This record gives sequence, structure tokens and C-alpha cells, in this order.
Amino acid sequence: MKIHEYQAKGLFEAFGIPITPGDVASTASEAEALVESLGLPVVVKAQVHVGGRGKAGGVKIVDNLEDVAPTAKRILGLTIKELPVRKVLLTPAVHIATEVYLSILIDRGSRGVVFIGCADGGVEIEETAKTNPEKILRLACSVRELLDLPREKALPFARKLFADANLAEQAVDIMIKMARLFIEKDCALVEINPLIVDDQNKVIALDAKLLLDDNALFRHPELENLRDMDAEDPDELDAKAMGLSFIRLEGRIGCMVNGAGLAMATMDTIKHFGGEPANFLDVGGSSDPKKVVAAFRTILKDPDVQVILINIFGGITRCDDIAKGILASLEEMEVKVPIVIRLIGTNQEAGQALLEGTDLITAGTLEEGATKAAKIGGAA
Ligand code: GDP
Ligand code: MN
Repeated sequence: MKIHEYQAKGLFEAFGIPITPGDVASTASEAEALVESLGLPVVVKAQVHVGGRGKAGGVKIVDNLEDVAPTAKRILGLTIKELPVRKVLLTPAVHIATEVYLSILIDRGSRGVVFIGCADGGVEIEETAKTNPEKILRLACSVRELLDLPREKALPFARKLFADANLAEQAVDIMIKMARLFIEKDCALVEINPLIVDDQNKVIALDAKLLLDDNALFRHPELENLRDMDAEDPDELDAKAMGLSFIRLEGRIGCMVNGAGLAMATMDTIKHFGGEPANFLDVGGSSDPKKVVAAFRTILKDPDVQVILINIFGGITRCDDIAKGILASLEEMEVKVPIVIRLIGTNQEAGQALLEGTDLITAGTLEEGATKAAKIGGAA
């Protein structure tokens, strides 16, 4: 789950990572009112779940009170990378002497947690990684180390970011706190870009990006409140409420599968035969016919879907329950697209018997199902 900069800064503050004070506003007049306590110059920052807001005009420094409301109004009217700006963060502008990049993240490549640093901050790190990969610093840490990061481990890394010893010590403090935040809140990423030095030689996080591990959110009910409903795909939320795992994709073949592993194998097989899946959808291990109806409704909301491939391997899931769900769906809604089905496993005879007389295209194997679906809903 992504959270906004102002929310991430709230967590930074709770863990003692230095930030500039600030507050959010949803209207121009609210923004203007905040300046009374924050003072001038002030930075007005779009709160959207994407990076590169600065480049998109979503970060502006304002010197005069009369410019605050118009600037806030302009930024609140922006859409950055398709996301409408609904809130702005106002924070006192600071003088930047130095900007560096610092993050901690789960690195699939090394199957562990690493700090990433770069002495050139502020700019997009992906660019630097491409053009000057030698400038990207890495420090791998075990989970045990992260629980209480030893200073001597962090210091050589921090010294590469800041040659000055005092600044490096401040960076070490920040790394220790980032590690604690990362572990305690089950993050996938904590990123500070830029981490800056102000004119009083203080190291401060000027930006904050934080990704929470969705699979660990149940351990942090207090963080669930940080979810921005406006920024989530409403269909994915509906599906989640129905107990389905659903992720929208680009293709035209709607998928309904039981089990996450089989759902992934199904998508791979579709691609292998020249098709593109329109979604990932795991109806789960149980076989509640209601879930099948919800799955149909979710898939059919996508206007790109030209065919549905149902791939069920019945173990705990009973094929007759799935068949009942399909029949109920066909009764409840108008399904205009062809449906290819492979239905095998527990109670498969009963399931197949129930579906006799329908227009469903049957397949004995996944290969056959994927080939048929790809032929109907294949690439244009
Ligand atoms: P991003 O573009 O979405 O990563 O947003 P940032 O919060 O990183 O802001 C973009 C850039 O605006 C930063 O890299 C800074 O150069 C600049 N900026 C942001 N806040 C301040 C500030 O308080 N003072 C100054 N001088 N520049 C700032
Ligand atoms: Mn940034």
C-alpha cells in the first residue's frame, strides 16, 4: 500500500527522523490559513501517489502571502500521471546546501534488505542508476542488524554520502531510525529523496515515500486508516471485499481461477499461446457460488474483455459448486462474451452435467483452454 508524503512524514516524526513541520490543505483558503503558523517562504506540494511531482509542477515555493492561495488552487487543479491532486502539503521552505538520496528496501535480487544511497540526490534515482551505476551505493543488512542497526555498520556508508563527519553521524542516526521504522511497520520501501543539509548543517528529510507490505497490514490496523480510497482501483476494492484476489491487467482475456499459483500458471499459459490476460483473479480455495457471481461481475466491468477463461482444478473447491455459480451468473447478468471453461477435479462429472446445454466452450486441458481463449481474444 502506498501512502502520501504527509502521512509518511507523520511516521518519520514518530520514529524521530527529522522533517520540516507542515500540514495539509484541501482548498486554497485552507492553504492560506496554514501560512499564519508556518510562515514564509513556504513550499506547496501536491499529495499524490507518484514521484516526479516537482517536474510536473506539483511542488512550488511561494514567497508572498498573496501567492499562496492561487498556487495552492493551481496545484489542487492538477492531474499528475493521471492522478488528480486532492490535497497539498504546506511546509516551510528551507535553504538546501546539499541533496542526497537515501532509501531502505526489500531487494529481490539479493533476497534481503538493503540501504541504497547516492550522493547526487533530488534527481530521479532510476536515471542515475542507468547513466552512472557506479554512483549507487548499497549496504545489505540482515533483519537482526536492522532491529538495532550498529553505528559502525552504517558509518562507512554514511561517510560516502557525506564527507563531513558531523553530517555523516546525523545520517547514521537517520539510518538507524529508518531501519526501525522499516521493520516495525513492515515496510517494503522507505525512501528519502532528497535528504538535505540546511544552512545550519542539519540533515533533514525533505521528501518521504513509504510502501507498506499489504500482506502484513493486518498487523497494523492503525495504518489501514492511511489508505487513500480515491487512489485505489474501485473494482479491486470491491473484489477484495468479496474475498477475491483481483488485479486488473492490460489484455482482453478475463480469467477466473481457483488458487493464486494456478492463476499465475494460467496467465503464463495464455501468454504462451499468444493471448494477454485482462486480469488476475483468484476466487480462492473455497467454492462459494456467490464468489463466482462476484467474480463474473468484476471481470465483466472491464470493457476490454472479449472472452473469459475459467480454469478450475477442484481440490477443496467442488466443481459442482463452481458450475452452480456460473449458472447463477448467467441468469443474473447478460454475458455477451464467449466463455471457455476447463473444469476438473472434485465432483467434476456433477459440475460438467450441470453445465450441459449452455453455450460454454469446454476444454479438457489448460493448454486447450488457453489456445481457444487466445484465438477468440488474442492480439489485434
Ligand atoms: P518529487 O519531485 O515528487 O520527488 O518531490 P520532492 O518533495 O522531492 O520535491 C522536488 C524538489 O523540490 C526537491 O528535489 C527540491 O529540489 C525542491 N524542494 C522541495 N522542498 C524544498 C524546499 O523547502 N526548499 C528548496 N529550496 N527546494 C525544495
Ligand atoms: Mn522527491
